[in-house]
Amino acid sequence: MVHTAELIAVGTELLLGNIANTDAQILSKELSALGINVFHHSVVGDNPQRLREVVETARGRADLIITTGGLGPTCDDLTKNVLAECFGKKLVFNREAALRMEAYFKKLHPDSGKMTENNYQQAYLPEGCVPFQNDWGTAPGCGFEVNGVRVVMLPGPPSECAPMFRERAVPFLQDWTDGVIASRTLRIFGMGESAVEAQLREHMNAMKNPTLAPYAKEGEVELRLTAKADSEEAAQALMAPAEAALRRRFGQLIYGVDVPSLESVCLELLKERSLTVSVAESCTGGLLAQRLTDLPGASAAFKGGVVSYWSQVKHDVLNVPNDLLFQYGAVSEPVARAMAEGVRTLTGSDLALAVTGVAGPDPDDRGNPVGLVYVSIAGQGETFVRVIHAAGPRARIRHLAANHALDLLRRRLSGLEMG
Ligand code: ATP
Ligand code: MG
Repeated sequence: MVHTAELIAVGTELLLGNIANTDAQILSKELSALGINVFHHSVVGDNPQRLREVVETARGRADLIITTGGLGPTCDDLTKNVLAECFGKKLVFNREAALRMEAYFKKLHPDSGKMTENNYQQAYLPEGCVPFQNDWGTAPGCGFEVNGVRVVMLPGPPSECAPMFRERAVPFLQDWTDGVIASRTLRIFGMGESAVEAQLREHMNAMKNPTLAPYAKEGEVELRLTAKADSEEAAQALMAPAEAALRRRFGQLIYGVDVPSLESVCLELLKERSLTVSVAESCTGGLLAQRLTDLPGASAAFKGGVVSYWSQVKHDVLNVPNDLLFQYGAVSEPVARAMAEGVRTLTGSDLALAVTGVAGPDPDDRGNPVGLVYVSIAGQGETFVRVIHAAGPRARIRHLAANHALDLLRRRLSGLEMG
């Protein structure tokens, strides 16, 4: 049987145009990959009456209703109340959800004592539902079924909605898909989403099982293979040749499968090879060091970093020769090279990364354009410098610059061409 889902996004800020309904985009892609039809999207404000109307319409034409948003602790968060009421369910206190929220709250606010009372509202869930534990935020979601219609409620923030769908809602819908659904995520750095999509379009449309969907992610692309089969092994077996074909096509651009991030891949490689790294940063202002030290166990390989924002610091701390700074300017190939070599000498690390560039919004005093960045790597071979021309706002340029530096590290550690 083919199932039909209807998405209801709850939130006045969506209607006011303050934010775009990206949850609907994410969920639609995922649902089509599962073979579930999506014929309607609705957006409704934080208004119980209008939400009720939309739910009543949806249950008449879909057998899966997915809501996003309005699960939080504030009084405009009314999704659960309305959905429970529409389907004749009471909200009951879920002790486990409350305990999990308390633990999450403690982790985020170690000094601020107890969680406020209104937070406990989030621990009330429709009776008889399957609670969806939220490992990516506070508000739990849930799923239930009444008279053949399934309801799934997901939190609004896309960073919670997407993983909650994949990790919680998909298992809840497992029996609709006759068998097991398994997926693999291949992560690509060094090619944009549209280029990846252009290469795959024909192929992708022809693929039925596994399906293939690309997702753009902060300067990276994820390729998600999803297979349905009778067993986990059979699903994995369906994906293996598809993964091999993607590896042949994208080769060294694929930096990992089911890995959390570029920096985590770098850290694992460093640890495997018992090597250390240090960083010298200008326009990234410590971002590279932060991303590396966000990983537990970073101290095994990360020695330290220097944020050398002023030329004076590049010279005084990193020993970048003044004549290079005068002749070429701080944003230049020779200075990027000297920064990496300088921090490597300073810390005695095996490898060293450096970043210098123009994050914007204005060009630098030498007229270098916004987005011009040099990243370099020293150690285990000749010092290598890559020049990049990044586009976008300041935060994106900095993030991309850090990605490129990490990409150099991954390539050197894996013995790949520097590209
Ligand atoms: P919270 O616990 O964060 O309050 P919630 O489930 O109550 O989660 P909302 O309060 O409705 O969610 O929305 C929280 C934020 O999530 C919004 O301010 C917005 O940034 C984002 N968000 C909500 N709905 C969507 C959506 N459909 N698409 C994209 N972003 C959304
Ligand atoms: Mg909220």
